[in-house]
Parts: sequence; structure tokens; C-alpha cells
Amino acid sequence: MATVEQRVPESTESGVPAAQEQPLAQSPGIPVENPATGEIVATVPDMSPAEVAEMAARGRAAQPGWEAHGFEGRARVLLRAQKWVMDNAEQIVSTICSETGKTFEDAELAEIGYAGNAFGFWAKEAGNYLADERVKTSQKLVLGKKIINRFRPLGLIGVIGPWNYPLTNSFGDCIPALAAGNSVILKPSEVTPLTSLLLAEGLLECGLPENVLQIATGRGETGAALIEHVDMIMFTGSTRTGRKVAEAAARRLIPASLELGGKDPMLVLADADVERAANFATYYSMQNAGQTCISIERVYVEEPVYDAFVSKVTEKVRELRVGKPEGPGSVEVGAITFPPQLDIIKDHVADAVQKGARVLVGGNEAPGAGRFFEPTVLVDVDHTMKCMTEETFGPTLPIMKVRDTEEAVRLANDSPYGLGASVFSRDTARGEEVARQIEAGAANVNDAMINYTVLELPMGGAKASGLGSRHGAGGIRKYCSQQAIVVTPRMAMKKEVFMYPYKSRTSKMLAGFFKFMYGRGKRA
Ligand code: NDP
Repeated sequence: MATVEQRVPESTESGVPAAQEQPLAQSPGIPVENPATGEIVATVPDMSPAEVAEMAARGRAAQPGWEAHGFEGRARVLLRAQKWVMDNAEQIVSTICSETGKTFEDAELAEIGYAGNAFGFWAKEAGNYLADERVKTSQKLVLGKKIINRFRPLGLIGVIGPWNYPLTNSFGDCIPALAAGNSVILKPSEVTPLTSLLLAEGLLECGLPENVLQIATGRGETGAALIEHVDMIMFTGSTRTGRKVAEAAARRLIPASLELGGKDPMLVLADADVERAANFATYYSMQNAGQTCISIERVYVEEPVYDAFVSKVTEKVRELRVGKPEGPGSVEVGAITFPPQLDIIKDHVADAVQKGARVLVGGNEAPGAGRFFEPTVLVDVDHTMKCMTEETFGPTLPIMKVRDTEEAVRLANDSPYGLGASVFSRDTARGEEVARQIEAGAANVNDAMINYTVLELPMGGAKASGLGSRHGAGGIRKYCSQQAIVVTPRMAMKKEVFMYPYKSRTSKMLAGFFKFMYGRGKRA
């Protein structure tokens, strides 16, 4: 059964995966649509809770063998996978594009580029981040003992992913979990399951043992079932679903790491390089058609540079081509992947206009057989409007004039979200000072989103944008339990001084010892 469920869609001549015929009696299957054309490109199984339970049993059985590969053995597989991704980049990109409708460049840069880097990074760093730590302690009672903080894989990890980056955000989180020695079951979004199936097949080719990584295709119920069987859940998606995932994990007392929604602000200070700021605002709001958790979703510009900034952004956004991607260089802005998202984008624009905003560019659904929205610039916006306070997740850029930096910071922080932010100023010290005032998991000065590519840095949200983080030491240690080990040498005394029988002399001696150690007020 596993081989049928996990078969990779074969590539057609156009590079689009051929429709999969996988009729399971109990699962009628989920059609996968190309959002740029409206065509159904494949059908995948809608896995039931019983099927997920079977997968979990297989994953658990496979895990000890994978752990026994050790860091070096696992790194060999991951490095082969890194090469496999590069060798098969064309097929991966066309699979990603076929299920997301994104442009070639958005798939190439933010998905292939990420995966290439991530496979190499975790192959190299897993052993460093998870090596036994020899601990030095101020506790004198354990003098002479060997003290170790040990990391060991939790066992079976569940990864649930969104539809906007099927490789980076769904599959990407599996890589450190595998590098740590766990088995993984990935539940990709029902909208974009094909990339995960393809990558799982690739990893098998690279020597990953059978059932160490399995793909549970399905809808929300499949994701909910997965949480019931794993030792830890890594979730990326909306804040709304994230709360449900956290509740389910809490009931089982398993750890959950949550990467959720965002409403990233960009602050343009009066001394900013306006041309650079305008280029970054244009690119990082429209890239991936605005469907990135760390897209620039709102901009605050100080009064002296507001007009120049708006005029530059308007000019640049007006030049963007939107529509069906036909390969490299064909359009800048691709499709809206998830059907309900288009309604949200339209609603946010209509709400803003109704409350007094002006549309300088775009503002409408774009024509085509698929789902598209025109790159849109909005001005005269404020915080009564959804476009400034709720996640739009589309190619829209609302720009608001502010009196000064203090007002910009206050408005940037006036949000339930806190994923990323960016600050533009020629005075980098001032820029950094402002960045530190923003309540967000990441803040870039004179840049945006770039922190995501630095795998040594934690990437995670503040406030309602998440709990925990990916990348860095925390991004792999979360897939492990910690074990404290204390080893007493062979030549130790037969018993410790504080043991029975209690005697007044030793009790007084211990009291004196504590007083000497902690009662001298030296530190104060
Ligand atoms: P959703 O929350 O709708 O879905 C995420 C995943 O959860 C999907 O695989 C979905 O399955 C599954 N799911 C749905 N219901 C349940 C449930 N009850 N239990 C378990 N799993 C469930 O998010 P989207 O797919 O719409 O993704 C867009 C969101 O993701 C945006 O808010 C974006 O900001 C956020 N995101 C955050 C990132 C970050 O790093 N912080 C990165 C990328 C995106 P199905 O699709 O089949 O319904």
C-alpha cells in the first residue's frame, strides 16, 4: 500500500505531473489543480485516520535503524539528496509550479535554493548541534562527576505544512527532523501534495530507508489524525489552525512547534535610500504573489519621503506582468494558489476602498483561465482597514504616511502578529535601534525576508505568529528530548556526607557550608 500511496507523479512532456490514478476503496482521492490554468494535474489519496495509524506503526518500526546510521550515515543520505535536488531541479520546479501556479523564479529561488542549502546545512550541523554537551556546574556537591546534556531523537515526528511553499515550508522542516535521527510523516496541504511525494521518492533513491519518511496526503482530518500518533508536531499554517493543533498536542502532552501567520511591516525612515526601499517594497510584497508568511504586508513611510516613495513604488508595480507563468522570465506575478485566498484579497481591497483608501495600481482580479490578482498599491490607508490589520496573503501593498519614527513603531506593533519586519534608514545604528523596538521574531535593516536564508538564525514568530522556531540550534533540538546524565567515578566514597543517619554535627556543617557558599552577599 505504501508504494502506491507514495508514487511520484510522472512528468509529462510539459513537466507537469501526470494525473495519478490511485483508487483506494475508502478514499475517493483529492484532485490537485493547477491554479494558473484551472486544469486538474493529479489526484492523490485522501488518507483516513486508520491509514495514518498504519503509517505511524511503520514509521516507528523504521526509526531505530535510521537512528543507528549515526550523524555521518544520515549526513551521507542528506548530501546525496542535496545533489539529487540539483540534478532534478527542472522536474521539481515544474511540479511546484503545476500545483501552486507560481512563477519559475519564485520556485527556483525560494524553494530549490532553500532546499539545496538546507540539505547541506543539516548534514553538516546536525552532529554539532546535537553532540553531547559536557556541562560545567557551580554545584559543589557534584564535584568530580561527569555531567552531560544529551540530545536524542524523539522518535516519530509529524510535520504539517501549508500550500505556499510546498518544498521550503512543508518539506524543509522534515530535513532537520530526519537529520536528528527521527522518522517523519509529512502531511502536506491538500492543495499542494505533489512536491512532497516527489521529494520522498527522491530521498528513497538517495538511500533513505523505507518508511523513515512517509507522506500522508489528505485534508485537515488527516492532519488532525496525524497529531494523535506522533511524538512531536511541527506545524506551519494559519494562526486559526495553529490554535487547534496546539490544543490537540496539549491533550496528548506532546511538544508542538508552530509557525503561523504574519502581517509584516516595513518602516521607511526619513533618511532612507528611497530607491532601495521602493525596490524592496515592490519585490517583497509581490514575490510569490504576496503569498509568503514574511511578505511585506504594510508600509509606514515618514512624511518627508512619502511622496517620493509612493511615486517610485507605483511606477515599479505598474510594470509588473501578472498571469500564467510560461517558464523563466515570462511573468513577475503568478497565480493565487488557494481558491478562498482570492476572496480574502478582494475583500481586503474592497474594505479599504469603502473606508476611503485610493487604489493607485491594480485593485482587481486579473483575467485568465486561472486565478490571478493584479499587483495592487493602496494609499490613504489606516488601521480601521483589514488590509492594515489582517493577513492579506496576496499581491497588495498598502502604504501609510506617518509623522515620525515613533508613530511608525507604534503602528508596526499594533498587530496581533509578530513574524518579521524591516526598517530602511541610511543610519544603520538608528535602523538597528528601531528594529529592536519591533515586536517580531525577525527584523531586517535595509533588507527584508533575508533572515530566512540564514539557517544559523532562529526563524519563528512572536505573539500570534507562532511558538518555537525553525533553523539554528533550536530548529533541530526541538526534534529531540534531552537527557541529563551524571556519572560518578568508580573511586567515590561509599556514601555522601548528607545521607542517613542525620547527625547534628553534619547538619551544622552543611548549614555552614551553604552559608559560606551563598550567604556572603558577594554577588549582590
Ligand atoms: P492552514 O492553517 O489552512 O493549513 C495548514 C495545514 O494544516 C494544511 O496542511 C491543512 O490541511 C492542515 N490542517 C487543517 N486543519 C487541520 C487540523 N484541524 N489539524 C491538523 N492539520 C490541519 O494554512 P494554509 O495552508 O492556508 O497556509 C497559509 C498560512 O500559513 C498563512 O497564514 C501563512 O502566513 C502561514 N505560513 C506561515 C509560515 C511561517 O513560517 N510562520 C510559513 C508559511 C506559511 P489542508 O490544506 O488539507 O486543509
